Amino acid sequence: MKLCHKTQELISGYLDNELTQQQNQLVRVHLETCVNCQAVYQDLKAIKESISGLEYPECEEQKMEKILQDPTAKKISIVGWVLLIIPLAILFIYHLYTVFTVGSFSLFSMKTLILLIEAGALLLFISVLRQRLIARKTDKYRNVKL
Ligand SMILES: [Zn+2]
Repeated sequence: MKLCHKTQELISGYLDNELTQQQNQLVRVHLETCVNCQAVYQDLKAIKESISGLEYPECEEQKMEKILQDPTAKKISIVGWVLLIIPLAILFIYHLYTVFTVGSFSLFSMKTLILLIEAGALLLFISVLRQRLIARKTDKYRNVKL
C-alpha cells in the first residue's frame, strides 16, 4: 500500500519524463504488478493526451498578423508602392537626363508623375488606415478604459 502511494505521487512525473532513473524504474516495476496504480496511470495519461490535443484560443499577435497578411491590404499596398516608386524613379532619371542635356521636361508629364506619386501615397495611407480599422473592430480591449 505504501508503494502504491509513492507510485501515484510519481506517476505525473513519470508521464512527463521528469523522474530520476531510479524513480522511473520504481514506477515502471510497480505498474506492471498493481492494477490500481495501472488504472491511475491510464487515467492521467488520457487526461494528458486530451489536454495536449486542445487548441489554444487565437492570441492577439496572431490576429494582428492575419490582418497584416490580409490579401486585399497586401494588394492595395503593393499598388501603392508601385505608384510611388516607379514615377519617383522616372522623375529621378528624367531629372538626371535634363541635368546633362538642355532638353526640357514637359510640364504635362511632370504633373502626371506627381499625380501618380500622390495616388501611391494615398493608397498606402488607405491600406494602413484600413488595417487600423479592422484591428480596431476586432480589438476586444477597445472598451477597456485605462
Ligand atoms: Zn499500486
